[in-house]
Amino acid sequence: MRSEFLTRQRKILIAKQDEYRALAADFRDGGSLPDRIRFKFHVLLPAVTRALEKIGLGDYYVCDECGESIPLRRLELVPAATHCVGCQEARDVRAA
Ligand SMILES: [Zn+2]
Repeated sequence: MRSEFLTRQRKILIAKQDEYRALAADFRDGGSLPDRIRFKFHVLLPAVTRALEKIGLGDYYVCDECGESIPLRRLELVPAATHCVGCQEARDVRAA
């Protein structure tokens, strides 16, 4: 069942990756990207790519920062999550 979960998450992530890449391609010749698209391309696309890489490495469930496990529920809600809630909140504060 874990592998079924991973297969499903992988499918979702690949679809998102395609979607974000397509968005960027649409705007490639148009100069500056709208903020919403820029966010998808510069923040979400790398996260999705990293999550896919983690699935490949077998550490999808492990927080990139503290090494604690990321709850399944969180990964269900946020398939591209690469950090546990605590570390993500700390990152968001630093980025703000
Ligand atoms: Zn963490």
